[in-house]
Amino acid sequence: MSITKNLEQIKRTLPEDVVLVAISKTKSNEEILQAYHAGQRIFGENKVQEMTQKWEDLPKDIQWHMVGHVQRNKVKYMAEFVSLVHAVDSLKLLKEINKQAKKHQRSINCLLQIKIAEEDTKYGITIDEVENILTSEAYQEMKHVRITGLMGMATLTEDTNKIKSEFQRLHDVYHKLRDEHRFSTLSMGMSGDYELAIEGGSNMVRVGSAIFGERNYH
Ligand SMILES: *Cc1c(COP(=O)(O)O)cnc(C)c1O
Repeated sequence: MSITKNLEQIKRTLPEDVVLVAISKTKSNEEILQAYHAGQRIFGENKVQEMTQKWEDLPKDIQWHMVGHVQRNKVKYMAEFVSLVHAVDSLKLLKEINKQAKKHQRSINCLLQIKIAEEDTKYGITIDEVENILTSEAYQEMKHVRITGLMGMATLTEDTNKIKSEFQRLHDVYHKLRDEHRFSTLSMGMSGDYELAIEGGSNMVRVGSAIFGERNYH
């Protein structure tokens, strides 16, 4: 299957209100351009330097999402252009994003990553920590970041009931906080589970290998 065909097939199955982020980490500019020429404009990366290089090389109407864990000392490289940071997991990181966004006189939209999977390897914070950040004076005073929703990753498993219940938990939290904090985005679902995520209320899916094929890490 070609990238164009994969993309078209996935788009046909997505409800209109679900945003597709094409996860292009490790993929070449040529591969990204194939998706671009098929109409895709939102791409996601998990390493700041790789994303910055691609932003420099590729058409400027691409919206770049950072979906991976971000180290604070890397924020400065993406502050000029990143359109959504999916995996914010501390007030300290939020402060740094606010500081760097200010230098470029812009405001950066962020999602808080909630830990829904049982695996220890997954980043993310608890529901209590989310509420602490949202209600903190420090966040209220930030003028250059806005938390527009939540993100989560389910356990990598064949057990669809487990995945469903993890997505359900995240959706419950999202639903509870949505009105008060004017959330618009619930980012959940990847190649293996985006259909379950959409059933569970996701409105942003992050799909990599189902579009671009398996990744080769060198
Ligand atoms: C790599 C990655 C994805 C996409 O994974 P696929 O299984 O290839 O669709 C989604 N979200 C995050 C945070 C990722 O790092």
